[in-house]
Amino acid sequence: MTATPVEQHRFEAEVDQVLSIVVNSLYSHREVFLRELISNASDALDKLAFRALTEKELLGTDAELRIEIVPDRAARTLTIRDNGVGMTHDELIQHLGTIARSGSRQLVESLKAKGDGGDDLKLIGQFGVGFYSAFLVADRVRVVSRAAGADTAFAWESDAKHGYTVEPGERDGRGTDVVLHLKEDADEFLQRWEIEKLVRKYSDYVRHPIRLLVERQEPIVDEDGEPEKDAEGKTRTHTVTDWSAVNQASALWTRPRAEVTDGQYVEFYKHLSHDWSDPLAWTHFKVEGTQELTGLLFLPETPPFDLFDQRRQHGVRLFVRRVFIMEDCEELLPEWLRFVRGIVDSEDLPLNVSREILQQDRATRAIRKQVVKRTLTLLQELADEGDTPLPERDGEDGDGSDSGGDSGGDSGDTGSDGGEPRTRNRYAIFWRAFGRVLKEGFHFAPEHRDELAQLVRYESSKGAALRSLADYVADLQPDQPGIYYVTGDSLAACRNSPHLEGLLARGYEVLFMPDPIDEWVVQSLTEYADKQLIDVQKGALDLPESDAQREHKEQRAKDLEGLTGAIKQALAERVEDVRVTDRLTDSPACLVTQDRGLSPHLERLLRANGQDVPAQKRILELNPDHPVVQALGRMTGDAGRAADVARWSSVLYDQALLAEGTLPADPAAFARAVADLMRAAVGAD
Ligand code: ADP
Repeated sequence: MTATPVEQHRFEAEVDQVLSIVVNSLYSHREVFLRELISNASDALDKLAFRALTEKELLGTDAELRIEIVPDRAARTLTIRDNGVGMTHDELIQHLGTIARSGSRQLVESLKAKGDGGDDLKLIGQFGVGFYSAFLVADRVRVVSRAAGADTAFAWESDAKHGYTVEPGERDGRGTDVVLHLKEDADEFLQRWEIEKLVRKYSDYVRHPIRLLVERQEPIVDEDGEPEKDAEGKTRTHTVTDWSAVNQASALWTRPRAEVTDGQYVEFYKHLSHDWSDPLAWTHFKVEGTQELTGLLFLPETPPFDLFDQRRQHGVRLFVRRVFIMEDCEELLPEWLRFVRGIVDSEDLPLNVSREILQQDRATRAIRKQVVKRTLTLLQELADEGDTPLPERDGEDGDGSDSGGDSGGDSGDTGSDGGEPRTRNRYAIFWRAFGRVLKEGFHFAPEHRDELAQLVRYESSKGAALRSLADYVADLQPDQPGIYYVTGDSLAACRNSPHLEGLLARGYEVLFMPDPIDEWVVQSLTEYADKQLIDVQKGALDLPESDAQREHKEQRAKDLEGLTGAIKQALAERVEDVRVTDRLTDSPACLVTQDRGLSPHLERLLRANGQDVPAQKRILELNPDHPVVQALGRMTGDAGRAADVARWSSVLYDQALLAEGTLPADPAAFARAVADLMRAAVGAD
């Protein structure tokens, strides 16, 4: 047999970049490499256990799944070894030489764009660096792996600078050895106490046994079993090696809640999610009765970069009676809760459950129901919690991730560094990160509408604070008919919408809905606490008014009949109707949609999506008290100025479009009209 030569490979460009970023920005948190490698080993064991359910022969005589840590002082290496699925030649190249995750390029770019800020960790946490963290402590890494069922092993090796090599390697039995040739200054990771400390801190929840090879001095005994003595009478010893169990090796979620510390939950979350930030909250529950299951679900603090990516993976892992079955189990987690991370361990599903079975199984639907219910309950608890003190930092935080968030008012954090205890509002943090996703539930899960209605938050005309519908209703003006909202392309567009003017003048609050998804929300959420949700851009507002006000309005309408008629004629192609309104105080005109029509925001969204939306004729409303409107009204009496009235009508219409964020059909004509106006105004004619 001819020896296979050593293959030389180059890293994919992004790997190189990720590597240099990892090594440069994570240096002070380098101990996390052990967590990452143990996590990978544990995943490899889970995958093997799963395959062995149907391919018994894979286990062979090596049935005890385990992770071994072998420090070698003489060689200055630390080896993390598992007898899991292993990797084939091609998998070594694919998994360790490229970055499969679509977002890594984004990671590199966002880190570069930022320059050197303090937030690298959070960013990196969102993407995960996994295996490459080995290079935090090693200047050379050799991975020897033999795939389960294969009879040959391959060795991957790299110094992170010059690409990597792959060659045939030696390994008894399946699994993977990751051999770290430690850097000069990384001797501490050869010390027993240091390794034990790190494993307990980061990986205690790993359900497979983790063993450390330790050396002990043992007395040498003679043939009679008596200790041998040297010339000075001291007992002679020799060095023996032994395995020492380091972790508890029981699945964390099977332990009673009272026995699990917050720190352990946090580390378990990091293991599971590859997120480097602490979770925002979690719920650990057991369901007993007709179906039995245990769940441990987490809410992350920061959204992953691909939250809105269709191909995005789901974050719940399915176990059946402690056996790992599958990752990213979308059958257990609806789309609109896709931010949830965690595990579900079912006692009822068959071990050989497949995706197809899951899709049809009744037990799956029951589990999904539980996941939804528990998540909504957790969210409601957070929502009820209000402000809480920032969690204590225990100086000895391993990776320095900041669980408190660190940006200003917009993130849900408040307080100052000077004396005042800093607080945060966990629900506000959650909402800013994931509210847009949760709102999809109104559309996809109308059966949860009432719970969701308690959970939605909006900024409003009252300021930047997030308002619940309950807050809104509690502050209703005595004569206020309902809950007003405005949709728009941005918060600023909502805030500046002319449609708000009359409402604000009456002291009514208006909720701002700048997300496309809000258009769906209001289709499902039509009332709350017996109050109608009212789109300020639709229909007649029918604001409560005194007799005097009504009379004034009617009089004005009569006075302006000529004008409304003339405008209607001039804009016959574009508007359905023209009428006077009490909706406006400062602007001359605005456009409103018929009661059942699409909102302009939705219309723009649909067009942007390539949908063919027929042009909708809307109603042009005039502010009868506005000087421009009044002047135009006087002009209509003058037959010679009919052309002028028609021209100004068009400008009025186009500026009403602009004010709501819609581009006029002929922007150039509008610009010309404005230029003409300016010429007249500056006296250039
Ligand atoms: P992640 O674990 O986030 O996918 P890593 O960079 O840590 O990213 O690992 C990349 C891939 O390499 C893993 O998804 C897995 O397929 C493979 N891998 C890493 N370590 C092992 C191991 N000990 N045994 C088998 N496969 C492994």
